Amino acid sequence: MGRTTQTVGRKIDPAISSVFGRKLRSWYRRNARDLPWRRTRNAYEILVSELMLQQTQVSRVVTKYGEFLEQFPTLADVARAKPARVMEAWEGLGYYARARNLHALAREVTDHGRTPNVAIPADPLSLRALPGIGAYTAGAVASFAYERRAALVDTNVARVLKRVFAPHADVKSTKGQKVLWGIAESILPRTGRTTWTHNQALMELGALVCTARIAHCDKCPVRSVCRSAAKQPGGYRA
Ligand code: SF4
Repeated sequence: MGRTTQTVGRKIDPAISSVFGRKLRSWYRRNARDLPWRRTRNAYEILVSELMLQQTQVSRVVTKYGEFLEQFPTLADVARAKPARVMEAWEGLGYYARARNLHALAREVTDHGRTPNVAIPADPLSLRALPGIGAYTAGAVASFAYERRAALVDTNVARVLKRVFAPHADVKSTKGQKVLWGIAESILPRTGRTTWTHNQALMELGALVCTARIAHCDKCPVRSVCRSAAKQPGGYRA
C-alpha cells in the first residue's frame, strides 16, 4: 500500500489502521511502565492522575499521586475540604488552577460533599461540562475509568499521529488539531476495552519512543506504516 493512500480525508485506510493498532498494542503489552493509575478504574483516581499529569513529569506525579489520595480518598473528601487544604496537598506540582478546578468539580458533582456516592459522568460530553475538563481529559476519563470507546489527543498522541499519518498537519493550529482528532477517532478499536489499551499505548509510544526531541524509529513497533519513519538507524529528528 503506497504511503499517499493512507488517509482519505481524515479517515485512515482500515488495513493500515488495523496493522498500526495491532503492532502498537502488542508493543504496549510488552513495554508499558507499571504506573499506579493504570491499575485502577476508579474515575476519581483517574481524574486526579490526569490533572496531575498535565504539564508535570510522570516521575514527580507518581509520589504526589499516592500522597494526595491518602489525604483525599474520594471526590466527596475533596468537596468537603477547604480550598486551602487542597492547594496545600497539591504543593510541589505547580499550576494550582488544576487543584482549584478539581475542588470546584468535586463540589459541583457531589453537591458540596452532601451526596458522596454520586459518580463522575462517563460520557465525554457530560465530562466536558465540568470545571477544568477539556476534550483530552474528558476522553481520558471516559476511556481509562469507564472503558468507553472514546478518542483522546494530548501532546504525545498528537505528535505520534502527525508523524505516522499526517506529516503536514500543523499541531498548533485549530485545523491541524481537528485533523488529528479525526484521525484518533477513525483508528479507534471496536470495543471500549481494547480502546483502553490502544489509548494508553499511543501515549506510551509518544513518551518512550516517538519523543519530541528524537524519534527512535529503529525501536518503533509501527515504523512499517509510519510516513515519517527514518530510513537510517538512529532516529528521525524533529
Ligand atoms: S517510526 Fe519513527 S516517527 Fe514514526 S511513530 Fe515510530 S518513532 Fe515516530
